Amino acid sequence: MGTILLKHAILKGKQKDILIKGNRIAVIADSIPVRAAREIDCTGKSVTPGFINMHTHSAMSLLRGISEDVPLTEWLNNIWSIEKHLQKEYVYWGAKLAILEMIKTGTTCFLDMYWMSPQVAQAVEEMGIRGVLTYVFLDNYDTEKSEKQKSECIRIHGYSKEWHKRCKFGVSIHADYTVSPHTMVWASGFAKENGLIINTHISETEKEVLSDKEKYGKTPVAFYDSLGILDSNVIAAHALWLEDEDIEIFAKRGVTAVHNVNSNLKLGSGYRFRYGDLKAAGVNVCLGTDGAASSNNLDMRESMKTMSLLQKGWTGDTTILPLNELMDVATINGARALGIDTGRIEEGALADLVLVETRSEAFIPNINFESNFIYSANSSCIDTVICDGNILMEGGKVAGEEQLLEKADEMAWKLINAT
Ligand SMILES: [Zn+2]
Repeated sequence: MGTILLKHAILKGKQKDILIKGNRIAVIADSIPVRAAREIDCTGKSVTPGFINMHTHSAMSLLRGISEDVPLTEWLNNIWSIEKHLQKEYVYWGAKLAILEMIKTGTTCFLDMYWMSPQVAQAVEEMGIRGVLTYVFLDNYDTEKSEKQKSECIRIHGYSKEWHKRCKFGVSIHADYTVSPHTMVWASGFAKENGLIINTHISETEKEVLSDKEKYGKTPVAFYDSLGILDSNVIAAHALWLEDEDIEIFAKRGVTAVHNVNSNLKLGSGYRFRYGDLKAAGVNVCLGTDGAASSNNLDMRESMKTMSLLQKGWTGDTTILPLNELMDVATINGARALGIDTGRIEEGALADLVLVETRSEAFIPNINFESNFIYSANSSCIDTVICDGNILMEGGKVAGEEQLLEKADEMAWKLINAT
């Protein structure tokens, strides 16, 4: 079993040694007088849990910057016209590019909604982070497509049992305006039978809510609930246009809400995410970046800053989202929703952690580490990333990153030129 000893790291303001045995944090103490296979001097570095990005479309990193300054419907049409040409190698290299960016910005686990999840799983296995990779249902109300997707989902679920333990399988219902109610119910039933999470886009725009009210006489949330879909582990991306009754349904059904602040702002979807009301109702709230084609990066620390500023700005309440809660939103809350024992630096937890270099102008004076980390610094302060007890980045460098960037760039241009 590999051991790593982190010497003199700052954990919640106190200097500690942290011993990692295998893939878990074994001991945290003022001083640990043992020899480890690897010893890292963490003088000047603070330790935090790796971030958990609760909503993204990893391989869309190849489409960064492809559709700018347009509303969501037009944006989706632009993206879909390129995605028609997707092949396995694009998804694999797009996912690798995304994961490299995640590691460099301190993310150690992500929930992915994208095509060809076996290729994403291969990228996750090779890059060393954790991923919950979902099969995406999007049938455009076409029965033939629906049948094809059902059998493909069953097949990939079968393969997923061979995936590395850092990868989990799940089911995505793209949205209720792209998936027929019949397929939504089937996907939800499959997820329930197999104990899988369900990921979906819900109430992202006002237009979507108005259209469901006209079509079904219900909000999207009430519509999903009427189909029996929310009565399981549902992770709802966006949840931006919620009514009071929607929040009650989320609380009653244990639905997790994932804020994607930068994507919502950029696509003009809105900014009044009801964090205070969701928290008061006891709803688990997490944070995601969305895909790089909309947000345009996968930097959780940057999203945390925007979320906090925006919550304070639109509610006029500076106490609405304190720093400790903001850290939970980006770490442990995601771990809880995914059922993975990560997101915390404690003895016994999975060893998924980040070392932050504090010897720079953004951290002087270091009166409040979280405040400097989120509001003052940028993600170049992230020095070392460990996931599952393996060092993925050290001194700001990921092994093989130059070759990966070169190949991903080549694949992105090949995909764009194929259209
Ligand atoms: Zn999305």
